Parts: sequence; structure tokens; C-alpha cells
Amino acid sequence: MKYVSEFRRGDVARALAAEIARLATRPVKLMEVCGGHTHAIFKFGLPSLLPPTIDLIHGPGCPVCVTPRDKVDQAILLARRPGVLLTTYGDMLRVPGSRSSLLQEKARGADVRMVYSPLDALRLAEQHPDKQVVFFAIGFETTAPSAAMAVLKAQTQHLRNFAVLSNHVLLPPMLKAILDSREVKLDAFIGPGHVSTIIGTRPYEFVARRYGKPLVVAGFEPLDLLQAILMLLRQLQEGRAEVEIQYTRVVKPEGNLLALRALGEVFEPCHARWRGMGTVPASGLKIRARYAAWDAEARYPDLEVPREVADPKACECGDIVRGAKKPWDCRIIGTACTPQTPVGACMVSPEGACAAYYKYGRLHVARAAPTPVG
Ligand code: SF4
Repeated sequence: MKYVSEFRRGDVARALAAEIARLATRPVKLMEVCGGHTHAIFKFGLPSLLPPTIDLIHGPGCPVCVTPRDKVDQAILLARRPGVLLTTYGDMLRVPGSRSSLLQEKARGADVRMVYSPLDALRLAEQHPDKQVVFFAIGFETTAPSAAMAVLKAQTQHLRNFAVLSNHVLLPPMLKAILDSREVKLDAFIGPGHVSTIIGTRPYEFVARRYGKPLVVAGFEPLDLLQAILMLLRQLQEGRAEVEIQYTRVVKPEGNLLALRALGEVFEPCHARWRGMGTVPASGLKIRARYAAWDAEARYPDLEVPREVADPKACECGDIVRGAKKPWDCRIIGTACTPQTPVGACMVSPEGACAAYYKYGRLHVARAAPTPVG
């Protein structure tokens, strides 16, 4: 299969792994920012190909994982309103709020529906003029353009029974927050593939220039990731700190200008709260005042903003999305917390680190070997 099988060749993977082992002469911590990378790393068993000197730290790039509980509570309050049809992505239905989830609300009679994109939600608004259709929007710069397009389309169609509850977040401010916190001493970053298709690589330049950390934007196949790790090691060995693109078949330095234009037209930056990180300045997207007619927060000014709610005591999701802990540090992973009974958001989404550890058996590897690789 074009663009798949050639990126999964075992002989090339072994050659890359040998070169990585040759260069990895000292311990390095590499953060893979994107949840899709976390998933791919475990799906393809990459930690078993890497030398023990390379520690992969899982970053904040799973949108479901970083959405705080009270945002789920707010969507639930909206879903309970008569006449509201609340839509969102499938994973968000299962994320626990403080007392319930959207799926449980649906079981209790609320009109909550799963959609694959905000344009599906827009279609529901066309089909149900008697309902107020709200799209509970989460995600990074990858998904925000489609929410922007839905708002623009609603305006063109004069569709007044559609609104977006925006919880979109931006990745570069979060990287800055992680670097500023110095909680985890990182050597370099595997940059996100999907987000970078939209924003390009220029927004990451500060990582190299101001903080002196290399960043390589990577694709999602095993050879993509191994090559990106090798590129990072070469930078470290040569004393360089640059932003490079491994995923050149998809990512351009300037990004997707059409998507960026739609994003800038509909949204503006705002402070946003992240699970485990608190409020990060200018890291969220809110709908501009000129599109208030399609902004759920403006449409429902009495909509309560629930209090910030901490995760359950046993759940380490907050530390995991900051890279401060790994899923095997959680006492209840694989026992009380499983994909069928998720206690925290990191177990809900396939991009969540806990779900990846559970699904691909890293949990058992970790328990068998107290000082695991990866
Ligand atoms: S295993 Fe479950 S409870 Fe533990 S950190 Fe992950 S999501 Fe939270």
C-alpha cells in the first residue's frame, strides 16, 4: 500500500535502530507531543527497538485527555436543557465529568449524539429546525479549522439553530508552559504530525531559538518515528537546536493557509485551562464576537461554568499529560481503570497514554521489569 508498507519495512527499521543505538551514548529524554505518536510507538513496539538510554516521555497531545472535567460538566448542563441536541466526537461521550458522562446523560434521556465532524452537527441542525444543535468542540489546531468552517457555513446558510461550545486548545503555548515549568528535564521534542499540517513549523521556532531544544515533526509510521528520533540524536550530537520536518510528504513550513485563514476568521486566542496544567495563557480558542450568534457561550449567557473539579485521587492523568509520570505509576491502571471502566480521560481516547499502555501490553512489561525502556 503506497505510503504505508514502505514505512514499515523491518530491514530499514533495524538499520535505523542500529544507528540510533550508535548515537545514543548518553541518557536522553524525548517528548512525543502528539497522542497519535504515543499510540503508534506502542502499536509498533518501538520501545523494544530503542536502547535503554532513550526515554520517551508522553506529552499533552491527546485532546480528550487534556480537556478538564468541568468542561465535560458544562457540556452536560447544556445537554440537559430542553430542546438542545448536543453533539460531539465519540470519545468525549465516555469521558467522566464530576458526576456523570455524556453517555450516561444520553441513557437518562438527553439528546446527545456522536458525530464525526462539526459539519455532521451542522447537517443535524438543518434536519432538526425545532432543535438547538450544539457542537461540543475539543481538540488542537487539527480539528479547529473544521469547527471554523461549520460556523462560516452556518452563517452563509443563515442557520440560527447551530452553535459551537469551543474548548479548542493550541499546542505551541502548551509547549512553552512545559518548558517554563522545568518539571521534566527534556532534551528534545518529536513534533506533532497532524497539528503541523495546519500550523506548519514556524510556531515552534521558539523551542529551538529560546530554549535550545531540537524539535523534529514526525509522521505516524514506525520508520517515520525512528527516523525522527535519529534526526533528533544527530542534532544533539552536533550541538544543534533546530526545527526540522521528517514528515515532509505532508507537512510544509507554512502550514495549510486555507485552514489558517478560516481559523483566524472565526476564532481568537484566549486563556484556557488544561487538565493537569491549570490555566495556560493564550492557549485556547474562543469564537470572535462577530460570530456570537454561533457561539454557545454567547447563546446561553446563563450557562453555568462549573467549578474546577480535580480528578479522582487515584488518577494520575494530570501528571501524565505533563510528562511528569508514566501510566505504570498509576496504582489502578488495568484494575479499577480499564478502557471499559475508565476512571480518567487518559484511558478513554485511543490516543491517551494509559489506553496505549493497556492495549499494547506495556503495563505488563513494566510490572515484569521495574526499569523498563521507553
Ligand atoms: S490508568 Fe486511569 S486512573 Fe490511572 S492515570 Fe490513567 S486514566 Fe487516570
